[in-house]
Amino acid sequence: MLAAVLREPGRIVVENWEIPEPQPGQVQVRVRAGGICGSDLSYYFKGKSGDFAMKEPFVLGHEIAGEVTAIGDDVTEVKVGQRVAVNPGLNCGTCRFCVRGMTNHCLHMRFLGSASVFPHMQGAFREYINVAERQCVAVPGDFDFAMASMAEPLAVTLHTLRHLPSLIGAKVLVVGCGPIGCLLVAGARRAGAQTVTAIDLAEPALAKAREMGADETFSAADTSLAETWMQRRGTFDVVIEASGSPAGLDTALRAALAGGTVLQVGNMPAGQSPVAINFIMSKELRYLGSFRFGAEYATAVEEIVRGKMDLRPLMTHRFPLHDANAAFSMAQDRSQSMKVHLDFD
Ligand SMILES: [Zn+2]
Ligand SMILES: [Zn+2]
Repeated sequence: MLAAVLREPGRIVVENWEIPEPQPGQVQVRVRAGGICGSDLSYYFKGKSGDFAMKEPFVLGHEIAGEVTAIGDDVTEVKVGQRVAVNPGLNCGTCRFCVRGMTNHCLHMRFLGSASVFPHMQGAFREYINVAERQCVAVPGDFDFAMASMAEPLAVTLHTLRHLPSLIGAKVLVVGCGPIGCLLVAGARRAGAQTVTAIDLAEPALAKAREMGADETFSAADTSLAETWMQRRGTFDVVIEASGSPAGLDTALRAALAGGTVLQVGNMPAGQSPVAINFIMSKELRYLGSFRFGAEYATAVEEIVRGKMDLRPLMTHRFPLHDANAAFSMAQDRSQSMKVHLDFD
């Protein structure tokens, strides 16, 4: 089988690997589509994502769907031939976070395509992968694989929304309009926000945010905005930081209304970030975080299968596996792309 191995930052080599046999409890999935995530881009271009640094060549990819080609012993529900979306996170189920339902904080989490552990968890940008049966969520027999793989970013979005106070009647600002930011625009809209405002540096991203339901959008390059939003002790009841940049968080803290909520879902650079943190005190803000997802993955698959949210505007490009380097360059180019998928024929 072919596997897209990140040998060093900026260089993926498609290599020939043995197809592994599924172990007891495992399902062998023929991967058919994989979305490139912001964390994949970060590993590809910088060799690290947040605090996780690449220390050996590894396969990226955690937003995938495919077809079941074999099952190991003790697999009870999943059948050969079924199409499945694959939850990239396998939690242990017994550690102190798992038993509290905080499965995304599992002490023994095995998350596909992550350098959080060493040896790294090999990812899913390859033709075959074995996963635990409980990582598989079935989709209809004719369902589009790339669409099914969008369950991962949608699950991140649903987990984020779960942390927020009620958005009914709220003025919401989304900072950063990548796929997650755009999904949060749609999610906030659906959750009853009075207005959803979005801000980003790239005009094409803002156009997507409008397509996903933003009432108004602003360029982050407009420096007068922060001042305007500040002068009334802030403007927005809820600000979602989805850019993962210190400048984005700085804007979020300035734009939040006194007594409001700022939620961090963007993955910030490693180390310390210079931001106007004193606003948390002076405006009595609540500053929350959201990391990955738990049970929301299955919910996200169901929402996508039922067509409850139109994700097609976000799916902008598809590349064959052997053009993985070109796919990553396109995914990095925010003037052209939103979510880029690798296709595995
Ligand atoms: Zn992702
Ligand atoms: Zn655990």
